[in-house]
Formats: sequence, structure tokens, C-alpha cells
Amino acid sequence: MGKRHPNPRLVKIHRNYTVEEVALLLGVHKNTVRKWIKQGLPTIDDRRPMLILGRDLYAFLQAKRAKNKRPCKPGEMYCLRCRTPKPPAENMVEYQPTTETLGNLFGICPDCGAGMNRRVNPAKLEQIRGQMDITMPQGVRRIGDSGHPSVNSDSR
Ligand SMILES: [Zn+2]
Repeated sequence: MGKRHPNPRLVKIHRNYTVEEVALLLGVHKNTVRKWIKQGLPTIDDRRPMLILGRDLYAFLQAKRAKNKRPCKPGEMYCLRCRTPKPPAENMVEYQPTTETLGNLFGICPDCGAGMNRRVNPAKLEQIRGQMDITMPQGVRRIGDSGHPSVNSDSR
């Protein structure tokens, strides 16, 4: 566990690595490194053993990470059960403040019915709202009091 997303920060970008060295460095199997090469990790041509530029390895791992992250777009929340971001059922969510600068949005997954939540900074609520209809608990000042014009986006 924990080896599926090797940390790009372990890579020294000014070094060259053999397949064996990459495997040791990141704690993955040599076959995993060979698979990455097939997937597009560049190697230095015409060298035996094969050499991988640290810079290329770093960029490759970064891109891999970014792909795995699957960030939520505005209006979406992440369903842990479906493992995918999506808009909540009926676009209905409830906001629960945790602290002054942090809160949680709660919704229901339209596909599996599991609860979904998304951590948000209340100041950024408008940016991530999308089509979601956010219910604020009583006693919390209506968002949008910060001087922003109300976002009534029907452009999506
Ligand atoms: Zn789901």
C-alpha cells in the first residue's frame, strides 16, 4: 500500500537513473518502471543499460498524480463509493460550517445513494457552487454578502 502513487519529490531532476535505480528509489518493481516506459516515460536513446533523465521521471510522475486526483469541478462532489466526482442528487446540498474558514457540503450520490461531502472554504463557495442548490444552516449569514455580484449561471 502507498506505493501506487510514488512521490515525484524523491526524484533528483539533475540525475540520470537506470530502471533498477528508479525501482529502488521509489520502492516499486522494475517491471512497473518498464511499464511506465511503455506508457511514455522517455529514456535516453542508444544507451545500455537504459537511462532515464530525472527531469523526465519527475514530470511523468507529476502527470500521473494529476490524473489520479480527478478534482471536482464546480457543482460536483466526490462519491467515495463510486470513486468519481459528480453532481449530487437533485443538485441539493447542505452546508455545515466547521470553522470560520472551513466547512463541509453534504449531498447524496444520485447513482448509489451514498452520502457525499466536499470540504470547502466558505469564501470560495460561490466558485464551486456550479448548479448546486446550497442550503445554509440557520444563523449563518447568507453567502454572497462579500460584494460579489450574485452568480446566476445558466451558461453551463
Ligand atoms: Zn455513488
